[in-house]
Amino acid sequence: MNLARFPRIRLGHLPTPLEPLETLSKHLGGPRLWIKRDDCTGLSTGGNKTRKLEYLMAEARAQGADTVITQGATQSNHARQTAAAAAKLGFACHILLEDRTGYTDPAYTRSGNVLLDKLHGAVVSRRPGGADMQAEMEALAEELRRAGRRPYVIPGGGSNPVGALGYVGAALELVAQAAAMDLRIDHVVHATGSAGTQAGLVAGLVALNSGIPVLGIGVRAPRERQEANVLALAQRTAEHLGLPAGTVRAEHVRANCDYVGQGYGIPTEAMVEAVKLVAEKEGILLDPVYTGKAMAGLIDLIGKGYFRPEENVVFLHTGGAVGLFGYPDAFGLPADSP
Ligand SMILES: *Cc1c(COP(=O)(O)O)cnc(C)c1O
Repeated sequence: MNLARFPRIRLGHLPTPLEPLETLSKHLGGPRLWIKRDDCTGLSTGGNKTRKLEYLMAEARAQGADTVITQGATQSNHARQTAAAAAKLGFACHILLEDRTGYTDPAYTRSGNVLLDKLHGAVVSRRPGGADMQAEMEALAEELRRAGRRPYVIPGGGSNPVGALGYVGAALELVAQAAAMDLRIDHVVHATGSAGTQAGLVAGLVALNSGIPVLGIGVRAPRERQEANVLALAQRTAEHLGLPAGTVRAEHVRANCDYVGQGYGIPTEAMVEAVKLVAEKEGILLDPVYTGKAMAGLIDLIGKGYFRPEENVVFLHTGGAVGLFGYPDAFGLPADSP
């Protein structure tokens, strides 16, 4: 495997730190928890999409594009990081936001990520929940081509075999970092949505023969569909890397989708508790849509004895804290509180 043969434009502050969560580990009574700070990738407050965009934007440039188009939910972290990458590299950027939650609170529709999309100069337009967003992007691309532009379409979450290379790189980074720290990683746990993060990580960790299992905590789809999405993309990513067929197998892909609650982007009580706990014990901000639900899952699994007390569990922090500003009411802070 040779990642360096794929075009890449550096956008992130890498490597991101790998740090112990000492207070939280003690509070929960073990295992030993660690955090991989991919919320600190630097691009417009950071997050996991930055690693993917390093490869996607390089492909856009190689194809001679002058415009990028992408899509996501209203409070999409992917849209915000794409808008920032486009701004830095001199591309025009069109963002299509799908109303997946039906929330009309101006904090949700205008603050948080939406505010930053606009600050980075992206053209933002909205689509109703359930719209065929890939078709919407293709239609916009066609319109822009007729107007003489050269658009490059980035799928939702930047999740295709090119974007997933960013998380193959993260797997190499994590294994090297752990080796330098004499740290034996027993599990990696993170939020999984459009599947590119888990697919890239799994492809990378399996290719390295690391023996490190990855558990994705789902935020939208039921488990079978999520595992199938991750497996398919991990296999396509492995193929893109030139790994032998059969390298990534079903047994390498595990998701737990028991912590979604009512749906994508809809707060759960356990998410609120997890966000508050990590803020209070570690001074670290999680987010309401992804990492808060993933941490809620991790905490619940710890309580159920899923991990042994002496194991080292790495929580991959995929970012998203900007989204907190879209959900002021979820955290029980009344508007008139001091
Ligand atoms: C997009 C996102 C994820 C999920 O990553 P996928 O590659 O889409 O599965 C997790 N956390 C945050 C904060 C995200 O923005």
